[in-house]
Amino acid sequence: MAGMSNMARRDVESLLHPYTNLKRHEEAGPMIIAHGRGIYLYDDAGREYIDGFAGLWCAALGHGNEELIEAARAQMEKVAFTHLFAHKSNEPAIELAEKLKELAPCPASKVLFCSSGSEANDMQIKLSWYAANARGEPERKKIISRRGAYHGVTVAAGSLTGLSFVQDGFDLPVNERFLYARTPHFYREAEPGEREEEFAARLAAELEEMILREGPETIAMFIAEPVMGAGGVYTPPEGYFPAISRVLEKYGIRFVSDEVICGFGRTGEWFGCQTYGARPTSISMAKALTSAYVPLGAITVEEDIYEALKEESARRGMFGHGFTYTGHPVACAVALKAIEIYERENLPEQVKQKAEVFERRFRTLAEHPLVGDVRAKGLVGAVELVADKATKRSFSPTVGIGARVAALAEEEGLIPRAVAGHNIALCPPLIITEEEIGEMFDRLERALDAAEELARREGWREA
Ligand SMILES: *Cc1c(COP(=O)(O)O)cnc(C)c1O
Repeated sequence: MAGMSNMARRDVESLLHPYTNLKRHEEAGPMIIAHGRGIYLYDDAGREYIDGFAGLWCAALGHGNEELIEAARAQMEKVAFTHLFAHKSNEPAIELAEKLKELAPCPASKVLFCSSGSEANDMQIKLSWYAANARGEPERKKIISRRGAYHGVTVAAGSLTGLSFVQDGFDLPVNERFLYARTPHFYREAEPGEREEEFAARLAAELEEMILREGPETIAMFIAEPVMGAGGVYTPPEGYFPAISRVLEKYGIRFVSDEVICGFGRTGEWFGCQTYGARPTSISMAKALTSAYVPLGAITVEEDIYEALKEESARRGMFGHGFTYTGHPVACAVALKAIEIYERENLPEQVKQKAEVFERRFRTLAEHPLVGDVRAKGLVGAVELVADKATKRSFSPTVGIGARVAALAEEEGLIPRAVAGHNIALCPPLIITEEEIGEMFDRLERALDAAEELARREGWREA
């Protein structure tokens, strides 16, 4: 801890950090963010950074938005907390549920609130199982996710997450009900010579085989992110979601689109499923729902699922699920204001326009000696770093390539995020200007050039 500030030392003594090498943290200490404005963050030494990741894919309206602050303050003044248990209600929750039903890309009978993306997906599982039991289909309990998917970290949501760094050591998946389809990662999973459409058709055929092998009557739901986020930022191959949707519709399987990252304009439409022609029956939301100013998650509930829940709750005396903060009035008031701003500024359309620069700058990075693959859509994208472009060989995990490039970017005044080890991702606040996008990529390019020089000098490719 030598050379650490007093605040940094207090951090190391008292905080357990998520997704952090805890041993290394005792040596390295934290980067303490003191305040933020727009797309900029400032650490406790006053250094400025572009928040290239909108926090964690979430602060869509950037930092210090006065309207969101005022919305929270005004609701706290009226009533800071009331709940939705046992027939109680509050106006922000009612209004927000109506708004989300109106915006939803699939028919929604009701909206159910929670406080995070993990909880949203956890509830999707619970509703699928409860509805199956209610309908006298107790065998319909299996859930199909995908390898590389990120759906959260609770025991159930972590079982959906098809990533070893989330599951290993935690005894996840929790039981045998969780199945994983192939990752739609064209760069690594396509056969030699296979075109995107052919790859997509093969994945849809594989999904159908899985459903038939398991028995369609045993599948409770399928869940997918439109763009796979924390697993590596994988944009789907051409035709993937229409083909997947056809298979699910053929067997009448619930399709949950996990819109926790893509929802509210990230890919240039309100929801990612609309960008890619996916036809979900329900969506999960969190993150940009409140622009991350306060925690809130939500799911939409299909009419037929609602009917099953209704009858079963009457039989049992009540619907036995609810968080203390389900429909928290302050969180709902902030979400209503965030959505009002997204609509007023026509943010999804703005993203579509800014995406031209963003996607072009990403494509240019494909030339870089460290970059094997480039994926970008709207205002989310990543480069996949490789030791050898010709063979697609990855760097040895001992190099820690993603973390090293991210650290070099921070020296240049940009906070990107290293995802799944060897990808550097950008997901800036949606309010970023074209000029700021240019500055963000200039900083990232300087970091990549510095990394290439170190890779040669220190022999990272031979590690
Ligand atoms: C972040 C994320 C989650 C989990 O949300 P938390 O609020 O961290 O629990 C779920 N799904 C996706 C796609 C995410 O990116």
